[in-house]
Amino acid sequence: MAEFITFPSLAYTDRAGLDAYLQMGGYKSLRKALTAMQPGEITETVKQSGLRGRGGAGFPTGMKWSFLPKQNEKPVYLVCNADEGEPGTFKDRDIMRYAPHQLVEGMLIAARAIGCNRSYIYIRGEFTEPYRCLEKAIEEAREAGLMGKNILGTGFDHEMYLHLGAGAYICGEETALLNSLEGRRGEPRTKPPFPAIEGLYGCPTIVNNVETLAAVVPIIEHGPEWYIALGTAKSPGTKLFSICGHVEKPGVYEVKMGTRFMDFFMNDCGGVRGGKKLKAVIPGGSSVPMLTAEQCETLCLDYESCVEHGTMLGSGAIIVLDETVSIPHAVQNLSKFYSHESCGQCTPCREGTHWFEMIMNKLIAGEARREDLDLLLDIGKHISFRTICALGAAAVAPIESSLARFRSEYEALIRD
Ligand code: SF4
Repeated sequence: MAEFITFPSLAYTDRAGLDAYLQMGGYKSLRKALTAMQPGEITETVKQSGLRGRGGAGFPTGMKWSFLPKQNEKPVYLVCNADEGEPGTFKDRDIMRYAPHQLVEGMLIAARAIGCNRSYIYIRGEFTEPYRCLEKAIEEAREAGLMGKNILGTGFDHEMYLHLGAGAYICGEETALLNSLEGRRGEPRTKPPFPAIEGLYGCPTIVNNVETLAAVVPIIEHGPEWYIALGTAKSPGTKLFSICGHVEKPGVYEVKMGTRFMDFFMNDCGGVRGGKKLKAVIPGGSSVPMLTAEQCETLCLDYESCVEHGTMLGSGAIIVLDETVSIPHAVQNLSKFYSHESCGQCTPCREGTHWFEMIMNKLIAGEARREDLDLLLDIGKHISFRTICALGAAAVAPIESSLARFRSEYEALIRD
């Protein structure tokens, strides 16, 4: 059965306050990080744990922290990416609602490691409840001497600010998020320079996802070996998965990396809703290639197994499609989403996502010709790796993977 190992607060959904968090051992890791560890040691511990960014990219967290310039006169910023907007992804909002102090504690530890005295949490515009939970947690932390000047009497000063975005999907991309935080249009920036060198207000900045920062707390408490032992050699630890669609028990689960997908799906999630047959699974949010039911038989929930199966772990958002789903109809939906959310800076993405939507509409209306299927693939080739950010490639993933694995369903809609 699934259990909450690194996010114990999530098992107690009515305990979001400081008192309850302290009773569960909260802020012990912060005390340890401030009194018994040097900043470099904190970074080294996170590096050794193998923690990878849980927002979707999977980049090693400790390594990202160590990219900050060694000689630097400017302030260093920490920004928490709480703009969770990938369709199917809803695990970060549970951390913010039910374990807000774990996020605050993780951010304070990370701030100490990177020498930062001011951090920001950029939250998706629609997340009113998570915003209020975090607002309360920051206030409680301040009253308890865990925020502000001379935290826990150690001489470490830190202020944390919340920023509610306007609710654009692209603001989850780290450089678009920084632009939005600065009050500019939420459009991705060309990289390099990467935020670690030139981020918020042109200063060195670390942008980490909510789950990533919250996971730092148990790593500091129990040590990197403990964390490594929870997962596989290349994908250490646990991961939060949000599962939705045609599943008996949708929700947020913490899973040890390397767990067999079918074990998790059948034992914890109750399998396909209504006893129907599984048709397809999108394992990591809408921007990753979908898999057939047969592929899921051998799939494990870790980064490497997903890549071996021609997909990605992404944000850990599992979307389940049963035998009643028309794959082209589902892909039409996603194409509409990506066309709407493209920021429009790059021609291949702006035009390509629009063409995807038009062709998918034509297909569903029964007006497409056979060559339109090749046109979809051709457009995809001209988007991937030719854009400023990854949204363009994300729009291609459902089209390419569904055409490769469910082509007969597309052909059945063609009338020529
Ligand atoms: S790929 Fe799309 S969303 Fe990303 S910068 Fe280019 S136009 Fe904007």
